[in-house]
Amino acid sequence: MSEEGHNYFFSMYGDEYSDGWDRIFKPAVDYLENSNELIPPELLDDLGDLGAVKTVSYYKRVLKKAMRDLYYMRIGHDEFLDIHSAYVQRQFRRAWNTAMRENCLDPRKDMTAEWEAIYQDLVVAEYEYIDRIAQEIVYAANNKEPLAPFIQRADLWANRWTDVYNRALAETGQEEWYRWVLGQTEKHCETCADRAGKIKTGAEWLADVMPQSQALECGGWRCDCRLERVGPCGGGSLYALMFANG
Ligand SMILES: [Zn+2]
Repeated sequence: MSEEGHNYFFSMYGDEYSDGWDRIFKPAVDYLENSNELIPPELLDDLGDLGAVKTVSYYKRVLKKAMRDLYYMRIGHDEFLDIHSAYVQRQFRRAWNTAMRENCLDPRKDMTAEWEAIYQDLVVAEYEYIDRIAQEIVYAANNKEPLAPFIQRADLWANRWTDVYNRALAETGQEEWYRWVLGQTEKHCETCADRAGKIKTGAEWLADVMPQSQALECGGWRCDCRLERVGPCGGGSLYALMFANG
């Protein structure tokens, strides 16, 4: 659990509950995480803010369990979609807001209608993807094909989070500068290897190619590259001199 969450807890409950974190809060969170009941998306959000639950790993577990339940027909196609829509929406919002804060923007005040539309498009595309996966799982179950490949795809879901994060970074920081940081699994991909370490503005990366993009030689779905900001926010013109043609 993060120090931030720990400190927040004490600021709320004070020293008289000094053993409350270890004695009550942490066991309660562990219980929730390990129970078969889903942590409701809004509670998961709060626990994520406290640093008490890693929300991406939790969502991957939710996704895998739902894939198994769909395959073994314990739930139907619609229920499968219902489970995911609220989680996906919140995970993507979280990724987007994290990137905005990285760009020294306040998501509550600085979000524009144009950015909101981009975010909504990403969510809709993800719903369509989940809908396709659901259809493929039902087909696999009916044709006695294995479930394992779908479970492996759930493990790659963290890359979807990174995709939204990278996109939000570039969209909301078009004048800012970012270095392409090669992912752990990327040794196979020529496009990524070529971009690794290069520094461009958000607008330039959007016009060139983005991590996780289908335009990558590797197809993007396994890409875990990310953009990393270079220099302080608003350092645009100064850094332009240093990084242009980089
Ligand atoms: Zn990559």
